[in-house]
Amino acid sequence: MTRADLLQRLEEEPLWDMIVIGGGATGLGTAVEAASRGYRTLLLEQSDFAKGTSSRSTKLIHGGVRYLQQGNLTLVLEALRERGFLIRNAPHLVHNLSFIVPIYDWWEGPFYGVGLKLYDVLAGKLGLGPSRLLSREETQRHLPTVEPNSLLGGVMYHDGQFDDARLAISLALTIADLGGVALNYLQVTGIIEEGGLVAGVEARDGESGRGFRIKGRVVVNAAGPFIDGIRRMTDPHARNLITPSQGVHLVLDGSFLPGDSAIMVPHTDDGRVLFAVPWHGRTIVGTTDTQVAAATLEPRPLPGEIEFLLTHASRYLTRHPVPADVLSVFAGIRPLVRTGGGNDTASLSRDHTLLVDNCGLVTIAGGKWTTYRKMGEDTVSAAAQVAGLDERPSVTASLHLHGWQEGSGPDDPWQVYGSDAPALERLLAENPAWSEPLHPAFSCCRGEVVWAVRNEWARTVEDVLSRRTRALLLDARASIDAAPAVAGLMACELGKDRAWQQLQVAAYCELARGYLLE
Ligand SMILES: Cc1cc2nc3c(=O)[nH]c(=O)nc-3n(C[C@H](O)[C@H](O)[C@H](O)COP(=O)(O)OP(=O)(O)OC[C@H]3O[C@@H](n4cnc5c(N)ncnc54)[C@H](O)[C@@H]3O)c2cc1C
Repeated sequence: MTRADLLQRLEEEPLWDMIVIGGGATGLGTAVEAASRGYRTLLLEQSDFAKGTSSRSTKLIHGGVRYLQQGNLTLVLEALRERGFLIRNAPHLVHNLSFIVPIYDWWEGPFYGVGLKLYDVLAGKLGLGPSRLLSREETQRHLPTVEPNSLLGGVMYHDGQFDDARLAISLALTIADLGGVALNYLQVTGIIEEGGLVAGVEARDGESGRGFRIKGRVVVNAAGPFIDGIRRMTDPHARNLITPSQGVHLVLDGSFLPGDSAIMVPHTDDGRVLFAVPWHGRTIVGTTDTQVAAATLEPRPLPGEIEFLLTHASRYLTRHPVPADVLSVFAGIRPLVRTGGGNDTASLSRDHTLLVDNCGLVTIAGGKWTTYRKMGEDTVSAAAQVAGLDERPSVTASLHLHGWQEGSGPDDPWQVYGSDAPALERLLAENPAWSEPLHPAFSCCRGEVVWAVRNEWARTVEDVLSRRTRALLLDARASIDAAPAVAGLMACELGKDRAWQQLQVAAYCELARGYLLE
């Protein structure tokens, strides 16, 4: 279904059962939940799907070893359950990855070994493999570049790894498969109230500038770090629910961490967990936790955060990364829910919070990617009550997401397309030039740009390079070089002229420069 078809549906539907604001993990999960229960569902995203925090995560589907350290067993248990569901429901996007805690002090082996056994027990039947102690030699076999000085061994455990923006696209496609409508570049500009109760939203099409008045039985505010702005559309005095905190990741060449495992450092200088994770042939190092004044869609890393990550990576890797080694740096804003006083965002709740305002606006805040489905389930149950809709049971714990197919492994570049891969292959056969690589630095080909426009609602060069392919995150400089080719291919598909291409390339280069260190 094209964007024009979706806009047509928007015009034809006089009353939606649920309108969801925000096309990140939370909003998409909520809309899949609503559509799968048979409610007439509309999701509106002001920018592109996963433009916000949901494309900027550490890419882990995890119980959260850190929450185990904090003693938050309920959160760990729930996340491990969700991890198990997701790996079953989207095996083309989520896979099992081994993590190793390198041991440099004698007490760390038994300490982390026991903790991770508890993690295994909590995962129960949905576990991805038992944790175990490794000798020094075994640790070096899995992590050939781990710092060998004083290395005693390691503790290996298992968690899930995924491609966050691709999961978001799969969720948007799932909404369409279920008969719902998910529209990108449609910003909610106001809330319609009738008799003091929420009755719909006002929205503006970011492409045409056209305004819409859209009626709904209930409106769900799933705008992540921006939920307070939406709440103030109905109550200008609403106090802030969110304390925004920024997390930064560095992307390095894959040679910094060859082998089959990730490194997990349970305790950095500021008491955080640090990961070095192999992803799409690169190494991601992250993250930080820095309270920021306000949320923005393009947060910028601070020099201190980069310094912190380079210093900590150097402690655990034989090759010490310097700024020139950084292929890309990206930052995301955690939508953490305020829990009272205190300035330490590392200890704020990662759990989710549901709130129904007096006017009936339902707000869902906090949580993490791993628990998006449960957040959606809880939200839709509450929203259905607010709207007086028939109660219908949740089916998403076993709902296969769009593209469902047994995983062929993270090394298959087409793995993220799942069951769509044969159709993509047929598309490439239509034009020999489409099988050519987009750029030597990336495994994607030119035809994937055409696919993204025709089948995944990509509207801008950034949509393609940042979230349909992950070129921006994998190598920001090379992605700048690829931008003119992407603009040319998109222009043919969308019927755009040269001026559009030039504007797109200029806007993309400006954005991508923010992902470069030098
Ligand atoms: C650094 C970092 C690392 C993380 N790592 C992990 C991890 O490894 N695993 C994990 O499980 N979780 C992780 N998380 C948490 C997870 O990424 C977030 O909890 C999740 O992505 C939040 O999704 P969201 O939909 O609530 O917010 P967002 O993704 O920000 O989505 C909100 C959306 O609302 C839209 N919006 C705002 N205003 C409007 C409007 N007026 N109209 C229409 N749309 C609007 C925005 O454009 C945005 O796209 C991480 C978070 C951070 C910051």
